[in-house]
Amino acid sequence: MSNTNFSPDDTQPNRVIRKESSTTTMNVCPKCLKDDQVQKVSAIVTSGTYTTVSQVPVQGEIAGHKIYGTAPQTGTGMTELAQRLSIDFSAKSVDETRKKVIEQDEKEFVKRYREKYPEPKDSQITTVLSVIGLMILAGVALLFFVSLFNPQNGFVPAFLFCCGVGVLIVLIPIAAKLNNPAKKVWTKNVREALVVRRKETSENYRQTIELAKHKYSNLYYCHRDDIIFVPNETDWANSSEIMDFVSR
Ligand SMILES: [Zn+2]
Repeated sequence: MSNTNFSPDDTQPNRVIRKESSTTTMNVCPKCLKDDQVQKVSAIVTSGTYTTVSQVPVQGEIAGHKIYGTAPQTGTGMTELAQRLSIDFSAKSVDETRKKVIEQDEKEFVKRYREKYPEPKDSQITTVLSVIGLMILAGVALLFFVSLFNPQNGFVPAFLFCCGVGVLIVLIPIAAKLNNPAKKVWTKNVREALVVRRKETSENYRQTIELAKHKYSNLYYCHRDDIIFVPNETDWANSSEIMDFVSR
């Protein structure tokens, strides 16, 4: 996760050559136990970020005459090391990651929730009512067609048809009302638990980012070993594992 718009909050100067040793700021590498190749990460990123100016061809038209020429175009670049050691703490990047983190967490949370509180199975009531409704409808439809071909029946076909529709209109809301209250409660509980969970995850993530930023601002790099570390701490990591390192 590297980027070009990183703005370090601490631009301490390069510490490569540092012969006088003050007892308070000893940035000794925990691997080689020397500080002659040690440099602050923020300084590497700052010094390794450069602006490029290149001439790009342009063409235009002035008073009906075509002109061709070049115009300067600026861009930013980073040395390979600066790129490897830079972390995108921009609001956009943090927000994108937060969304992913929450999404992933919710999936796992619902999975665990299901294991602990199994989802209630669909009740048989809907099925039973549907079958009854269909049987009544089939019966009425049969009577309807039989009476349809007997002209002396008068209003009987229309009456039977209305009866069938009426029965269904009554049955459908009853089925909906009786349809598994336990499942509804379960779904409501999951939703409520997720709202709480989302808040917690978001807050935890905010704290993780704050700690990571703080750790990152105190990070040093040893050119000899290609490792990163925080002075006076024994823990260190390879420069390629910088994301992991600042988040732990
Ligand atoms: Zn070292």
